[in-house]
Amino acid sequence: MIEILRLGHRISRDKRISTHVCLVSRALGANKLYYSGQKDSSMDESVCKIVKDFGGNFNVEYIKDYIHLIESKKKNGFKVIHLTAYGQGLKSFSKTKGEDIFVIVGGEKVPKEVFDLVDYNLAITNQPHSEVSALGIFLYEYQGSKILTKDFKNFKLKIIPQKNGKKVLEK
Ligand code: SAM
Repeated sequence: MIEILRLGHRISRDKRISTHVCLVSRALGANKLYYSGQKDSSMDESVCKIVKDFGGNFNVEYIKDYIHLIESKKKNGFKVIHLTAYGQGLKSFSKTKGEDIFVIVGGEKVPKEVFDLVDYNLAITNQPHSEVSALGIFLYEYQGSKILTKDFKNFKLKIIPQKNGKKVLEK
């Protein structure tokens, strides 16, 4: 099981980027995304529409008390990973077969408490960039290239790869 936590969503500034965090999570095999900050029903609806159209098992949940959530995921056996430019490289991370992981990305400044609470503070390069790219690279590295051809069940629409143009299968 792969779950994601996106910290500190701000409706006015983060609408697009938080939606992209959700879409990358879904496309690259995560089962669920929690977000803290401001509840954003229109983001929830737009992600829900993508899931309805393109299938798969993915849902989004707003959470107020993210510290409590992190603690409860740890208690429930999830390995908790915070992606941050200040962390250690991926080589410091060891994967265990069949484990559940809980991956945290920030937005605004991430409190020190999060750095202290997690199992790993991991950097995708030690250069500042974006939560979308950090998450995409981590999920790819964690699962390998098989994730790029993941099958999504219960779709209404499926994109058929083309050399040129767009082909969409409608169910
Ligand atoms: N200023 C923020 C801070 O002090 O944490 C970072 C802002 S950054 C635009 C937003 C998020 O992108 C970070 O919290 C982190 O999750 C992710 N991020 C950015 N660069 C990263 C990197 N090199 N490695 C891992 N995650 C990164």
